[in-house]
Amino acid sequence: RDYTPRIIDISYTEGSDDKKWSSTHFAWTKELEASNKRVFGNRSFRPNQREIINATMSGHDVFVLMPTGGGKSLTYQLPALICNGVTLVVSPLVSLIQDQIMHLLQASISATYLSASMEWSEQQEILRELMSPTCTYKLLYVTPEKIAKSDVLLRQLENLYSRGHLSRIVIDEAHCVSQWGHDFRLDYQHLGILKQKFPQTPVLALTATATASVKEDVVQVLGLSNCIVFRQSFNRPNLRYFVWPKTKKCVEDIDNFIHANHPKECGIIYCLSRMDCEKVAEKLRECGHKASHYHGSMDPNDRAYVQNQWSKDKINIICATVAFGMGINKPDVRFVIHHSLPKSIEGYHQECGRAGRDGQLSSCVLYYNYSDYIRLKHMVTQGVVEQVTSASGGGSCHEQALETHKDNLLRMVSYCENDVDCRRLLQLIHFGEMFDPSCCGKTCDNCLKELRWVEKDVTNIARQLVDLVMMTRQTYSTPHILEVYRGSMNQNVKKHRHESLHGAGKHLAKGEAARILRHLITEGILIEDVKKSENMYGSTSSVLKANHKKIDDLRSGKHIIVLKFPTADKAPKMGILDRSSVPRINKTIQQQSGVDKNLASELYEALRC
Ligand code: ADP
Ligand code: MG
Ligand code: ZN
Repeated sequence: RDYTPRIIDISYTEGSDDKKWSSTHFAWTKELEASNKRVFGNRSFRPNQREIINATMSGHDVFVLMPTGGGKSLTYQLPALICNGVTLVVSPLVSLIQDQIMHLLQASISATYLSASMEWSEQQEILRELMSPTCTYKLLYVTPEKIAKSDVLLRQLENLYSRGHLSRIVIDEAHCVSQWGHDFRLDYQHLGILKQKFPQTPVLALTATATASVKEDVVQVLGLSNCIVFRQSFNRPNLRYFVWPKTKKCVEDIDNFIHANHPKECGIIYCLSRMDCEKVAEKLRECGHKASHYHGSMDPNDRAYVQNQWSKDKINIICATVAFGMGINKPDVRFVIHHSLPKSIEGYHQECGRAGRDGQLSSCVLYYNYSDYIRLKHMVTQGVVEQVTSASGGGSCHEQALETHKDNLLRMVSYCENDVDCRRLLQLIHFGEMFDPSCCGKTCDNCLKELRWVEKDVTNIARQLVDLVMMTRQTYSTPHILEVYRGSMNQNVKKHRHESLHGAGKHLAKGEAARILRHLITEGILIEDVKKSENMYGSTSSVLKANHKKIDDLRSGKHIIVLKFPTADKAPKMGILDRSSVPRINKTIQQQSGVDKNLASELYEALRC
């Protein structure tokens, strides 16, 4: 296999800035607004919804990046309702599909689905109905393996297409296409066939998690042409982010935290293993909480029962693996706690995103220790980490995929070990978004710390990092470069040990080199670029490249880099490290906002714009 990097360049238009899509003078505007109110019961559109609908209804391929809970479903369900013909929706999980269909049927919209686990006779009946001239279905949901494996379905779709009845193709959770993302599904790789077979049908790709490289990958694999991209800020102003040290008393800490901040409120605790889920739930029950566990090896009926009990507030805490959550639509989740390290920043952002969908203040707490990283890395290497679904999640134990997983994990570690920068800034940088940390308003642990700072000139270190990127031929990722610079002797990095800069940064405190490197990226001196490897999946990853226009100034001394670093004599941190006091966060604001739910919701909508 050839892993030679190849830079790809896909052109697309940014739709979010184009005023034309927000027009209220499209032929369908009246019907759109009426149906939004009458059928879906919405008072108005949320940010970007109208624009996306107008672009897809104008016949363009559209790529949508919108945070979880932003309202992506409406952007295809409304057009499906208004347009003639059937909208095909590819969605990764049967449980997600069933949930969507239930909501559609409640709104009297005719929808159905096909999955491999259905009786053949049942499938045939649905296909027959689809082919009939009097077909009433507006939406047909399928799992990706149906597209990859069912020739019968493809033939029927061809038939629909030839009669002009295939009105739109929707790829939900489109990041699953990319191996570089956190939730790769092999079957999503085959979806390119849809655009090949049905070139005239507009495609709408939706996701809540995509870095630049994932986006390029999705556009490429799906074969989208002249695609319009709508993106929305990934900042969630009503979520507060905390990373706290994980000790042996972690469950006790969790219990205290919930009692102090969210008594009797609803939340999710993500655990690494199935056993952890069960243990944590049991301990919390002993502490008087109504908690249950949820994981992939439970009987599906038991799982559905637990989820149902939680939805109806019969239990308030679910201790779950990542198998729990995709498509979970409970608006009043007040806390998401990570009992162990998430697998990637995207995964983390999405898991946290399940909190506070109603716009009210909610907490995201991550308990971190380095040994969890070692444990998780081992599990990833062995391929025993629970995937979101085991049905089609396999097949990723590929060499390249493994590197991607490790890379994602290292980024997560560096996020946790960073005890200086705003958590929002760190997350948003990852999604290619700029963020002014002063807008955080002390809603993350790092911004809450009253640190004393010293300014340090780090120009020399910056030069060394840039030189290292050049010496290694601009072919390595951020975590890789950092490992070389800090002199790691692990398997991947050992090959660079004769490089003159291998270990040049070992005198630096943990995280310092990472901060300087991140600064170089935000300043545009180094660029995180997409690397396309021509392996069997054509997957991409990201590599650091130098921006020649800027490095000369750095080398000549014209550009000096001075960064703030915390001094050793830290001011006391906010309560949490002092075990005698239970962390209590912003209780007053929370109580105030609790008074008027609608106001909080509206505020949230406004902040998101
Ligand atoms: P996503 O797929 O982006 O995570 P969903 O499509 O599941 O989000 O929508 C999340 C919630 O927001 C749903 O409960 C949905 O009914 C609600 N919603 C979507 N659009 C609107 C709107 N325009 N007004 C009010 N509520 C909306
Ligand atoms: Mg969705
Ligand atoms: Zn912050």
